Amino acid sequence: MTDKPPAARLAAQSASAAQEQFLTILSREDAMARFDAALFPRDVPHELRPLAAAQGLALARDIVAPIDVPPFDRANVDGFALRARDVADASDSAPLVLVLNGETIACGDEPRILVERGTATPIATGGPVPRGADAVVMIEHTQPASPDTINLRRAASPGQFISYAGSDIARGEVLLRAGTLIGSREIGMLAACGIAEAPVSRRPRVAILSTGDELVQPGARLAPAQIYDTNGAIVAAAVAENGGEPVFRGALPDDEAVLEAAMREALETCDMLILSGGTSKGAGDVSHRIVARLGKPGIIAHGVALKPGKPLCLAVCDGKPVVILPGFPTSAMFTFHDMIVPTLRRMAGLPPRADAKVVARLPVRVPSELGRTEFVMVALVEGENGLLAYPTGKGSGAITSFAQADGFLRIDALADHAPAGAALDVTLFTPHVRVPDLTIIGSHCTGLDLVTGPLARAGLNVRSIAVGSLGGLAAAKRGECDLAPIHLLDEASGVYNAPYLSDGLDLVEGWRRMQGIVHRVGDQRFAGLDAKGAVAAALRDEACLMVNRNQGAGTRILIDRLLAGARPDGYWNQPKSHSAVAAAVAQNRADWGMTIAPVAEAYGLAFLPLTEEHYDLVAPAARRNRPAVQAFLRSLASPESRAALLAAGFRPV
Ligand code: AMP
Ligand code: MG
Repeated sequence: MTDKPPAARLAAQSASAAQEQFLTILSREDAMARFDAALFPRDVPHELRPLAAAQGLALARDIVAPIDVPPFDRANVDGFALRARDVADASDSAPLVLVLNGETIACGDEPRILVERGTATPIATGGPVPRGADAVVMIEHTQPASPDTINLRRAASPGQFISYAGSDIARGEVLLRAGTLIGSREIGMLAACGIAEAPVSRRPRVAILSTGDELVQPGARLAPAQIYDTNGAIVAAAVAENGGEPVFRGALPDDEAVLEAAMREALETCDMLILSGGTSKGAGDVSHRIVARLGKPGIIAHGVALKPGKPLCLAVCDGKPVVILPGFPTSAMFTFHDMIVPTLRRMAGLPPRADAKVVARLPVRVPSELGRTEFVMVALVEGENGLLAYPTGKGSGAITSFAQADGFLRIDALADHAPAGAALDVTLFTPHVRVPDLTIIGSHCTGLDLVTGPLARAGLNVRSIAVGSLGGLAAAKRGECDLAPIHLLDEASGVYNAPYLSDGLDLVEGWRRMQGIVHRVGDQRFAGLDAKGAVAAALRDEACLMVNRNQGAGTRILIDRLLAGARPDGYWNQPKSHSAVAAAVAQNRADWGMTIAPVAEAYGLAFLPLTEEHYDLVAPAARRNRPAVQAFLRSLASPESRAALLAAGFRPV
C-alpha cells in the first residue's frame, strides 16, 4: 500500500471500507470509567534524583523531616544572650548593668560559657543561644558601660529573639507529601533538612504522532492544500504541562503500513502513545484499525458523547494507553484536557489537577446537542452586575477561539441549551485570569489593532471579541462592552452607523475603509474597467465566478446593491471575512469579490475602488469615563495611530 499515492490509497480504501458509523457511543463518564479500569491500579516507577535534577517532577513518597530546623536554639538578632528574669525591672529611669561573659558567639561558634545571673554573652544573628540564657536583647537597646559591662534600659521577655530548635521544621513531621510538584520552595525545604536526593516519580514518556497527508511542520513552506501541524505542538506542550515527557515523532501520512510501523516502534520505547487525526470511521481513517491489533485488550471506547470530540478513541495495548485524538485542534485540546490529563497525571504520580473556576453569567442563549457533553469556550467580560461569559467558539476547527478564551464551560449531555442569563461555572485555562481593562465587542478590523497597540504596550489588557456589527451593537445596549465597532449602512437614509444608536449610546468616529472589487492581477476580463464596469463585465461572462459575503455583513449590503437582483455563479459561496474573499480570488477558486483595500493589498490582488465605508465605535455613555476607554480615545486621536492607520490603507477622520 505504501507505494501508492494518497489519492489511489483513498480510492482503494473507500472501495473496501466504505464509511462505517459509530455504532456504540459511550457517555463521557462511561468512557472514562472503562479507560481507568483498564489502566489502574498500576505502579508508578520512581527514582532518586539530586535536588537540582528533581525540579518539575512529582515527589514519589512522603518525606519525613530527619532533623530539627533550626537544629539548635538560635539568636534572631545581633545582641546579647541573657536571663530574662535578671532584667525584668530595667527601665529608662532604672537602667541595669550586666557583666559580659568572656566569649562572643558568632555563627558557627559553639558556646562554652554558662550565662549566670547578672551576666550577658555577646551573640550574632544565627548563633546558638548559650546554656543559662533564655532571651536575646538587640544591641541597639544597650549601651556599653565599660569594656566588660553594658547598660540595659528595657526589660526582656523570656524567649525574646530566639528561634527554638525545631520551631521551623520539627524532626519526624511530614515535610512534603507524595505527589507534590517539586519547585524552588520544595527544594529549599529538602535542602534545609540536609536531603540531597529526592525520590521522584519517573515522567511517563509519551510518544506523540500527528497523522494526515496534508500536514506540514511549522517552519517549512506550505504547498497548496496543506496546513500546519498544530496538534503536534499543542499535545507535546500539554503533555509537558501535566507531568509527562513528550517524545514528538512528527506527522505521518495516512498510510496504514507506515503508521503501523511507527506506532509499534513508539510503543516499544514509550509508556503512552497519543495520535491525532484520522479517527473518524471514514475511508482513509486507518489509525483505529491499527490500534485494534496492537495489543490486549485493545479499543476501550471509540465514539464518545462529547462536543467537540465525538470521534475520540481510547485504547489500552498490553498495559499502555493508546489514544487517538480528533483532528481538529480545538477538539483535540478539549478531549486531551478532559479525558487524557487525568490518566497522564496518575501515571506521572501527580494529584488530579486543581482546576480554577469562576461563576459567570451567559449573555446569550447557547444551544447544545442533546445527548452530548458540550464544551463551550468563553471570554470573560466585566458586566454591570458581575462577570459575563462570552462564547468565543468559531467551530471545532478554529484555533483563535482558544487564544481569545479565558476558559470553558460544560453543558450537560441532558440539556439542549443553556439559557441567556444562566450563571455557570467557568473552568479557567490558567488560574490567574485577568479580566480585561478594555472590552471591545463587534466588527473586527485590522485597523483596530493599530489603535489598541499603544494601550497594550502601556500595560492595559485589551480584549476584542469579533461578533460582527449587529452583535456588537446588542452587546453595547446590554452594557457588556466598552466599545462596539460597527459599519452599518442605513439603506433608507444612506447614512452609516448613527441611525442605529439608541439611548445611552454615543458614536465615536473611527476611520474610513475603501471597499472595492478585487481580481487577480493581469486578468484581462477586467482590464481598464472601474468597479461597476467590472461587475457588469463579470455578469455578462458565464465562466466568471464570484465570491460573496455572509448575510448581515456590511459588505454584503454593498454587493447586493451592485448586483441589483442578479445571482451569478458563486453567489452562494458566502464566507464571513474580508480575508476569505481575497484568499478565494488569489487561489483561483473565484475570479472576483468585494473586500477592503488593505486586505486586497496584503493578498497582492488588483483593486477597483467602489465606496468608502464608515468604521465607527459605539460607546456606552455609562462606561465612557473608564480610564481604558479614555486611553483608547487618546490613542485614536494621536498622530501616531493616525499615521499607522493611513499607512495600512485606512483613512482616519
Ligand atoms: P481527520 O480527523 O484526520 O479527518 O481531521 C479532521 C480535521 O482536522 C481536518 O481538517 C484535518 O486537516 C485537521 N487536522 C488533523 N490533524 C491536524 C493537525 N495535527 N494539526 C492541525 N489540523 C489537523
Ligand atoms: Mg486526517
